[in-house]
Amino acid sequence: MELLYKSTRSNSEPVTASKAILKGLAEDGGLFVPTSLPKLDVTMEELAKMDYKQTAYEVMKLFLTDFTEEELKTCINNAYDSKFDTTEIAPLVKAEDAYYLELFHGATIAFKDMALSILPHLMITAAKKNDVKNEIVILTATSGDTGKAALAGFAEVKGTRIIVFYPKNGVSPVQEKQMVTQKGDNTFVVGIKGNFDDAQSGVKAIFGDKELAEVMNQSGFQFSSANSINIGRLVPQVVYYVYAYAKMLAKGEIENGEEINVVVPTGNFGNILAAFYAKNMGVPISKLICASNDNKVLYDFFETGCYDKNRDFILTTSPSMDILISSNLERLIYRIAGNDAEKNAEFMSSLSSNGKYEITAEMKAQLADFYGNYATEQETAEVIKEVYDTANYVLDTHTAVAAKVYKKYKATSGDAKKTVIASTASPYKFARSVMNAIDEKYDSMSDFELIDELTKISGVQEPNAIKEIRSAAVVHDTVCEVNEMKDVVKKFLGI
Ligand SMILES: *Cc1c(COP(=O)(O)O)cnc(C)c1O
Repeated sequence: MELLYKSTRSNSEPVTASKAILKGLAEDGGLFVPTSLPKLDVTMEELAKMDYKQTAYEVMKLFLTDFTEEELKTCINNAYDSKFDTTEIAPLVKAEDAYYLELFHGATIAFKDMALSILPHLMITAAKKNDVKNEIVILTATSGDTGKAALAGFAEVKGTRIIVFYPKNGVSPVQEKQMVTQKGDNTFVVGIKGNFDDAQSGVKAIFGDKELAEVMNQSGFQFSSANSINIGRLVPQVVYYVYAYAKMLAKGEIENGEEINVVVPTGNFGNILAAFYAKNMGVPISKLICASNDNKVLYDFFETGCYDKNRDFILTTSPSMDILISSNLERLIYRIAGNDAEKNAEFMSSLSSNGKYEITAEMKAQLADFYGNYATEQETAEVIKEVYDTANYVLDTHTAVAAKVYKKYKATSGDAKKTVIASTASPYKFARSVMNAIDEKYDSMSDFELIDELTKISGVQEPNAIKEIRSAAVVHDTVCEVNEMKDVVKKFLGI
């Protein structure tokens, strides 16, 4: 059965999965959502025997129904290969009373690799299927991790170019170094004088610019997105929640059918939405625990039903979650509004004009599966030290936010269900904050000295992603104002 995708903002004709991936964002500015959520058609016992690639096929075939078996399997094989430093792809590690699903074993050591190693393959396949002759220009806003993962995925991919905008003063030193040293003639990295929300809004505005789209088309270009607004990002992220459950079953940690909780350190709401989709596909997930840092707009939303971005943007030690406009929440809002595009469009228009909207009590009642909380900077640092001291396991700052929120949830609810925490980045990517949390004495060391110390205390080998940047030359140094983003794009494309 063919699964189609429709916009969250109007009742325009649904499109195939490959078209939704190519477009990224719907023409009316909405996000593509599947017209229904498929159910797994293999049992958990069968899944428990599968490796990551096989699991990926079983999940993705249900969403990307216009890809042939051969096409999909080729994409999967090209993505989940030796770019990952373990054949498990996403290992599950028990520390204290939680199971950490390590999603950072890919090329850029953050969970974005899970989807961005396959997106370029899906995109190229989709372009072929739809007879696209234009060069595809991937336009991406990043809070730090998407940028490098997308660059790594699309660099030197024929028929594509990639432009990444990141907040010049809003990413970690390792994140910035990873991006500005990216090789490849088709890559372009730009720092903007603004925060992530500015970058994301700027990119969305360029997408919505009809005149520019026309000029692009005449010059043989069309835009697409590598952000989690692209359904081609979301679908591969559903896979690892299915895989995690199946692995827990295979290891005898749970009985078949036993419910687990999932904790996700959240920014743009993409990763946790993928967990929600997995639950709807039949994975026995009880609570979806949404963990925020000091930018706790989602926590407030789950508490009050009011989404309000009118507040100070706080720079934290978990920069990939420094976000006040969580784009993917729109997909959930649309759903709890009864798949009502008109109603959702009203909320989104209120968000863009007043910076807020309030859902109805009826809609709020449908959020019972979600629990939201947040961790302050101090709590985040404390939990890194605590988990290191008790379990000799080093968390990155984002995962630490999730670990703290899980502790808060458990203490107040008494819920003792087995719990999977999405571990979204390697501690190496945020070495300074991590090491400072463990001991203040590290504060005086240089970034690479800290990394050497981290190797000593964690017993985890330095990842290739770090070795690469030790000596890599900076090749991108463009910095622009937020209102210059469009001109920068045109200049890079020579149009
Ligand atoms: C992107 C990112 C997040 C947030 O994920 P969303 O899908 O945007 O909610 C959390 N942690 C890390 C390390 C990330 O890179």
